[in-house]
Amino acid sequence: MEFIDSHAHLNDPAFDSDRQEVIEQCLKADVKRIAEIACEIEEWQPAIELSRKYKGIIFPVCGIHPDYAATLNEKSLNDLEQYLLNPEVKALGEIGLDYNEYDDQPKDREVQKQAFAALLKLAAKVNLPVILHCRKSRDPQDFSAYEDMFSILKNAVYTGGIMHCFSGREQDAFKALDMGFKLGINGIIGYKKNDDLRQIVKKVGLKYIHLETDCPYLPPQSKRGQRNSPAYIPEIAQTIAEVTGETLSKTADLTTQNTIELYRLK
Ligand SMILES: [Zn+2]
Repeated sequence: MEFIDSHAHLNDPAFDSDRQEVIEQCLKADVKRIAEIACEIEEWQPAIELSRKYKGIIFPVCGIHPDYAATLNEKSLNDLEQYLLNPEVKALGEIGLDYNEYDDQPKDREVQKQAFAALLKLAAKVNLPVILHCRKSRDPQDFSAYEDMFSILKNAVYTGGIMHCFSGREQDAFKALDMGFKLGINGIIGYKKNDDLRQIVKKVGLKYIHLETDCPYLPPQSKRGQRNSPAYIPEIAQTIAEVTGETLSKTADLTTQNTIELYRLK
């Protein structure tokens, strides 16, 4: 069995004291490859350096997370293009919309939308898939982040990708599939309150799922309150296997195949 973590942040300071050990634990847990997602300008070069240090295990993905949308300008867009032309970089991401705001920290949705559209254009130009970040506002009834994302995608040319940390409604899941995306599913699938997500994963099936951790955030159920790690991918896969009624080894095989295809890994 072999797993891939399609979305990790191993350069996060949370791993500074034991990064090497964590990567060894991943290999022991059969998590053989890991996408290191660089969310802002300062993270691009370190992601490439990490992937060179762990060649064949870690591969870099570079983008501008919507929380950094205001850092997108002509120069950063040009710089990002140069990074993406490096064949070591396997996708553009994470990019998208984040409407989760605290009262004291309003977010400029127009700036996010414009940055997202510009980054999609760049992905098409360099012919790379995109890793999408779509986060709702705190109002449980408000799904405008998904609606706005789909309307921007409708007017864009893109080569597919992952809707990372999927947490929309069933209709959003099937819309994403229709538009050529698959769903990134992480530890939240095992959280008690997430019956809806389990139902969606069951309906969607393994062909449309990528395993991810989003570590150091969002640890799976048995590790709540702790730092997350790509080594916990098998626990997420086990939950998905139970939800879909498939075996763990079939869950590993199909999701690994999905991720190899998407990132065009060898
Ligand atoms: Zn992430």
